[in-house]
Amino acid sequence: MRRGSAPGTGSLDLGPSLTHLRAVRRATREARRLLVATGMLGCFATAANAVELDWRKLGDETAELLANVLRIDTTNPPGGEIAAANALARKLTAEGIAAEVIESAPGRGSLYARLPGRGGARPVILLSHLDVVPADARSWRVPPFAGAREGGFVYGRGALDCKGIGAVDLMAMIAIKRSGEPLDRDLILLATADEETGGKAGAGWLVQHRPDVVGNAEYCINEGDHIHQLPSGRKVVQLGIGEKTPCWVKLVAHGEAGHGSTPPAMTAVTRLVRALNKIRRYRTPVRVVRPVEAYFAALARFEKEPLASRLAHLGTALDDPIFLAEFARNPRQNALIRNTITPTVLEGSPKTNVIPAEASAHLDCRLLPGEKPAEFLDQLRDVIGDDSISIETLLSFPASSSDPDSGLTAAIRHMAGRELGGAPVVPSVTPGFTDSHYFREHGVESYGFVPFILAEDEEKTVHGTNERVSVENLRGGVRRLVTVLRALPSGHQQ
Ligand SMILES: [Zn+2]
Repeated sequence: MRRGSAPGTGSLDLGPSLTHLRAVRRATREARRLLVATGMLGCFATAANAVELDWRKLGDETAELLANVLRIDTTNPPGGEIAAANALARKLTAEGIAAEVIESAPGRGSLYARLPGRGGARPVILLSHLDVVPADARSWRVPPFAGAREGGFVYGRGALDCKGIGAVDLMAMIAIKRSGEPLDRDLILLATADEETGGKAGAGWLVQHRPDVVGNAEYCINEGDHIHQLPSGRKVVQLGIGEKTPCWVKLVAHGEAGHGSTPPAMTAVTRLVRALNKIRRYRTPVRVVRPVEAYFAALARFEKEPLASRLAHLGTALDDPIFLAEFARNPRQNALIRNTITPTVLEGSPKTNVIPAEASAHLDCRLLPGEKPAEFLDQLRDVIGDDSISIETLLSFPASSSDPDSGLTAAIRHMAGRELGGAPVVPSVTPGFTDSHYFREHGVESYGFVPFILAEDEEKTVHGTNERVSVENLRGGVRRLVTVLRALPSGHQQ
């Protein structure tokens, strides 16, 4: 019997599986009554020790914990995540859960804790990160590192990405501890350093230097996607099963150094500009990968004709150049159907009158799942068509994705049926990337699933201004996450 699970589900449209579950619970209750009567309760010790959880209190504690960690500025670089890791560790220690702060380099702390389960299945990891991207306080309505609470929201850089998720993960662990009813499997909590710059001093470091932390975990629940609220109010559980991968490169153009007053026909700078202009005009080919096709097909049912039929068969619909232009006008949609190439960092001469011997540009390229970086770089070389420009790889790892029909995805479907009125669960590909790949490469099925219900205006605050999360989402997030964890298959069903 799972006491302390979500209240109020009676008003929702319950599916047949849940009706069945209820029958099982009723039978369990009956059996227990009988055991109490016959003095045999000892066999059900665990269930008898289970306590009712106070979700409202858990939510308020989550908001308080989050406000505390938002006050710790962990802008990366330099990161300095150790203070935030220590703050989380203190909360766990106070609950009697052992926590370890692991330092990959001075000040770069990651939090690790493990709540033992009954050993019936391989562990599940709750993953988040402690570092944040910079915030320009001038454009915020509240200071970004003050943990401000206003109008039912907690504001701050990291509220959604990713300290809010870390706070919910941690409180879900505490909720399970308080319930007195362990999971069937170990629950591992990781809140790592350095995600925003690639995770080499965080998740990447842990997987390499502390493999005991990951162990033989079966699943990892990470940031990446969430429960999306459509303008109509309907909810769609977007479950990140794959991500585009980065192929970050640096173009370096060479030329003779000299004085700006007597320029040669071609310099390092003009050569670089010519290359960038070719890249700017180049359109990468359209390719609709299976999860992207499935994602838009699932969304089609919420749209009117003729858009609905086009989304239902996106691969063929995009053959129409007019529809393609319309579809690709949305940057997120465009990013889901092709590799993208974005020039970002530019370097040339530090002085107006000096022609540098070298000029460089960083390209933030993102590849669709299944693309091979080496082939992509060959294409890039062809587009540039200038052998004197060198291409250095700054960051690249192979694309990988997770099973869209695993025990974890079934548990999320169960949660959606029970707590979100049967909202559809659709597999998605995330245009950005997270630390999930480190775990996928380690054999852990990793998913982007954040238990927050977010409308577009809230989604936009990630890496933007006035980043915030509602206390309602923190409260509901803990409950939804605990429901998912409780619904994971027990025993060795994998
Ligand atoms: Zn993040």
